Amino acid sequence: MTNLQTEDFSKWYLQTIQKADLMAYSPVRGCIIFKPDGYELWEHIQEEFNKFLRSEGIRNAYFPMLIPQNFFQKEEDHIEGFAPELPWVTEVGSEKLEEPLALRPTSETMIGSAFSEWINSYRDLPYEINQWANVFRWEKKTLPFLRTSEFLWQEGHTAHENEEEARVRTEKVLEAYADLIENFLAIPVYRGQKTPSERFAGAVDTYSVEAMMKDGKAVQAGTSHYMGTKFAEAFDIRYLNRENKHVYAHTTSWGISTRLIGSLIMVHGDEQGLVFPPKIAPTQIVLIPVGPWKKNPAILEKLTALKTDLVDKGYRVRIDDTDNSVGFKFNEWELKGAAIRVECGPRDLENEQAMVKVRDLDEKVAVPFNELEHHLDRELTAMQTRLLENARLRNKENEHYDIETLDELKAHIEASKQANKTPGFVLIGWDGSEETEKQIKEETGFTTRNIPFEVPVEKTVDLVSGKPAKHTVWIARAY
Ligand code: AMP
Repeated sequence: MTNLQTEDFSKWYLQTIQKADLMAYSPVRGCIIFKPDGYELWEHIQEEFNKFLRSEGIRNAYFPMLIPQNFFQKEEDHIEGFAPELPWVTEVGSEKLEEPLALRPTSETMIGSAFSEWINSYRDLPYEINQWANVFRWEKKTLPFLRTSEFLWQEGHTAHENEEEARVRTEKVLEAYADLIENFLAIPVYRGQKTPSERFAGAVDTYSVEAMMKDGKAVQAGTSHYMGTKFAEAFDIRYLNRENKHVYAHTTSWGISTRLIGSLIMVHGDEQGLVFPPKIAPTQIVLIPVGPWKKNPAILEKLTALKTDLVDKGYRVRIDDTDNSVGFKFNEWELKGAAIRVECGPRDLENEQAMVKVRDLDEKVAVPFNELEHHLDRELTAMQTRLLENARLRNKENEHYDIETLDELKAHIEASKQANKTPGFVLIGWDGSEETEKQIKEETGFTTRNIPFEVPVEKTVDLVSGKPAKHTVWIARAY
């Protein structure tokens, strides 16, 4: 790698994802190509989240990508929030369309319109559906995976009889996101509620899980919204309740996107390249013949048999028997984030052992063949836990609880800069006013991340106004 992570984090990120072959730029601004290794990461996220959906009885469906203009005019806040980012289809061939069609930025309107026809009685509720799809938001500033103009995501949409049930769904999904991101992606998250200015356009309440990248910046990793009856009113999602009255349903929506791939890289990657938690690594184990292995066919035979055994047990395994030099192969697989490398040469074969190197550890150890599978299994599990623990420790080091005023925040930012450290996440008191948020953003670039469910330290005074705080909030610079 020519760009060091410690020197220029964003250059390192852009170089790594391309060298490791996860993505390529396309001719359309902000739209990226997901190459097979990048797309596979998304497939593993899909497989894992589908388990949750299935356990909840939420089924996948697919709705059209083109949304009639009039749908957007039905919910005022929604159109106001999304209008600046909407691309439109206005003509076909040389003919102008009667009504322009938007490329969906999200599907509340399309699904709301369908729900209004499908939901008639309390017996139809809850109505819960998910779709895996692409969406478009013409973002001004883009960054591969983290903020693109077209991205892949899942969007869940549900309708319920009452507020309580809808809120339970909103919370349960947020916890499922936290579980997926912590236990599958090994990224610790901050669960909480978004402030009104950061709310989803049209939602009553928005909840998020936020993650801290290695450079101390935040990423909104997933969101879950309680819509109240706002979309039900806009799209006439009414049903006959148990008292035989026509009433509006309470709806929710929630999403995670291919942004998670960017977060994964920014949380775990190192100077050698990508580091993936074993549960999601496209290559969990790479087997590499070393020394004069071509003259000794028994080596490749041994590795091929090992691969068959491991694949049977459900591991993702590759053998690198290309003509590249051993040094090249080692670098290449470190760059691509293979979780474990197993080497075997003539002397190893004689000693009935292989050399094992775990991606995030320095040492290489000799392991007897008869213990190898057990050893690999243990190391993969240990690595998964270790990456989460390391990220937790790093987060702790970059959390700040003792900043009480805007001047102190500025001094903290300056001191961090001098020490070549990140200013990280700062916990502040907030009086609930938008002016405070605005002033912090304008003067420091920090934005409110969320109001944590579990407040580490209660703050009593607003950072800017000095008025009594209504909430304790995380603020940070964000991607
Ligand atoms: P939202 O519907 O705005 O709540 O978005 C749902 C999730 O999609 C967010 O929590 C982000 O993780 C993700 N997301 C939003 N905008 C983008 C984007 N431009 N590129 C990639 N992911 C995005």
